[in-house]
Amino acid sequence: MRSILIIGGGISGVTAAVELAEAGREVILVEQSPFLGGNVVKMHNYFPKLCPPACGMEINFRRIRNNPRIRVLTGTTVQHISGPKGAMEVEVVTAPQRVNDYCTACGDCTEVCPVERPDNFNYGMGTTKAVYLSQPFAFPQKYTIDAEYCTGTACSKCVEACQYGAIDLQATTVQETLLVHAVITATGWKHYDPSGIGGLNYSLSPDIVTNVEFERMLSVTGPGEGKLLRPSDGKPPASVAFVQCAGSRDRNHLPYCSAVCCSASLKHALNVVELLPETNVTIFYIDLRVSGRNEDFLGRVEQADRISLVKGKVAVIEVSAESRGRGVVGTRLEKREYDTAAAAGNDSDLMVVAEDITSGKKIKKAFDMVVLATGIVPADGVPAMQTNAFGFYPAEQQEGIFPAACAKRPMDVSASVKDATAAALQAMK
Ligand SMILES: Cc1cc2nc3c(=O)[nH]c(=O)nc-3n(C[C@H](O)[C@H](O)[C@H](O)COP(=O)(O)OP(=O)(O)OC[C@H]3O[C@@H](n4cnc5c(N)ncnc54)[C@H](O)[C@@H]3O)c2cc1C
Repeated sequence: MRSILIIGGGISGVTAAVELAEAGREVILVEQSPFLGGNVVKMHNYFPKLCPPACGMEINFRRIRNNPRIRVLTGTTVQHISGPKGAMEVEVVTAPQRVNDYCTACGDCTEVCPVERPDNFNYGMGTTKAVYLSQPFAFPQKYTIDAEYCTGTACSKCVEACQYGAIDLQATTVQETLLVHAVITATGWKHYDPSGIGGLNYSLSPDIVTNVEFERMLSVTGPGEGKLLRPSDGKPPASVAFVQCAGSRDRNHLPYCSAVCCSASLKHALNVVELLPETNVTIFYIDLRVSGRNEDFLGRVEQADRISLVKGKVAVIEVSAESRGRGVVGTRLEKREYDTAAAAGNDSDLMVVAEDITSGKKIKKAFDMVVLATGIVPADGVPAMQTNAFGFYPAEQQEGIFPAACAKRPMDVSASVKDATAAALQAMK
């Protein structure tokens, strides 16, 4: 029996893989990064239950580990898809696997590695060595080497330190043609880069962060190890503003609603007041779009003493001259330095200017930190896929290809899991 190919190893791809394999199908799961779990494993916790992502994901990883019908290819992308449903040919390329499956994740290689690289799992907040564990509960649990930074055989310290013969710095790219019955595309989302949103001045201050960066800042496995600290000076912020629809529902940026950012900011606001008992939070919004179980969540926020909800779109975040660029090195999203010592003692450098729709007045308020609730854009394209005006994959594709979850449109984890299960059923039929 031919396999079903799943492209994308986030929660949707993983869900489709275990559903299909447990129903007796052979599955090949292709993931471009070195680990499975996608964006969900980067979260501090997730609504509606606010449990850590390891909870749900660990069970799925165990189901994959115990199921011989699932073949996982990490570091792999699809180059070409051809042929009719039932007899499709898919060319895939796997990047050189410089660390193989003998790796026990002991970390001896990291200790001797002399090279640092920006930590892309933490959106450039901090660094790792060039040989590193891609994320704290990485699956597969093995180290990886960043070829862009590793100096290769000129160094070889990691090869000498590895007792298991798990490192081959001369490993090469592997190309393979997979013969498959059907394809599920579960490539998910990337966050929208707010650098170009005029007025919000994301690039001017390290204390203006995106919602995805904020997830990592809250996380115990993030750069602050669970302590929420202002990037510029390493102090806990006394006040935090959330700017909803940062670029979303705006024809110059993302004309659509990303569906999850309101619930994400409500979650973040509750996280902040729980973590920092003195800190005040203000959420500036156009409309709060929460539905289903997340409405309870809105109720909790409305009851919280230290959280204010202001109906009004933020026009400008003013950044004081002395704090401009403080602590930021290189391109913000890729190579940001989490510099806690850069400029102590500059409080309230950020002024949020908005119109309060309810009172009809313009407000100007100082905050220690601002979180931009930026939206979701589709991940990089897969060949042979039809796209809609926003780059997402509509359900209608050539026969045998089934897009799933956030690759189709923004949705939360619960909806993604249901959609991935539906795609698995369609592919099985
Ligand atoms: C700030 C924020 C907070 C959120 N918080 C919550 C929350 O608390 N609760 C909740 O329910 N939802 C939340 N969400 C939504 C949640 O992140 C999504 O529902 C979930 O990530 C969807 O999973 P997915 O597998 O479809 O996509 P992803 O998580 O994006 O996974 C896609 C996977 O595909 C891989 N991939 C992409 N392109 C390719 C390619 N060409 N080849 C191979 N692999 C590829 C990626 O590397 C990734 O591993 C939040 C979203 C945001 C923006």
